Amino acid sequence: MGGMECVFCRIVRGQLLAERIYEDEDIIVVPDIHPSAPVHLLFISKIHGEELHKVEAGKFERMMDKVREKIAELNVPYRVAINGNGATQVADHLHIHLLGKISADKPV
Ligand SMILES: [Zn+2]
Repeated sequence: MGGMECVFCRIVRGQLLAERIYEDEDIIVVPDIHPSAPVHLLFISKIHGEELHKVEAGKFERMMDKVREKIAELNVPYRVAINGNGATQVADHLHIHLLGKISADKPV
């Protein structure tokens, strides 16, 4: 399962070193290697090929619970983003971006 070239699969398998902020049976949470905000976390499904419009509802809810938990913990202005199939150069591998700022002077 998972393409050899998929960056998210490589992170999940530990082939790309990333600080694992959180991990459970469904997801891992790591900082984005190229952050677009002072806080930029990725909530990555462990399964390649899942996408927002295909993922099982209960799993998506568990992923979002973790995002919501992190938002509450950070307590900063934030934006949550999910890129769909073909929206970026990355493979079909569900991941949720959480971008947070230190202050509210500019939108994230
Ligand atoms: Zn993948």
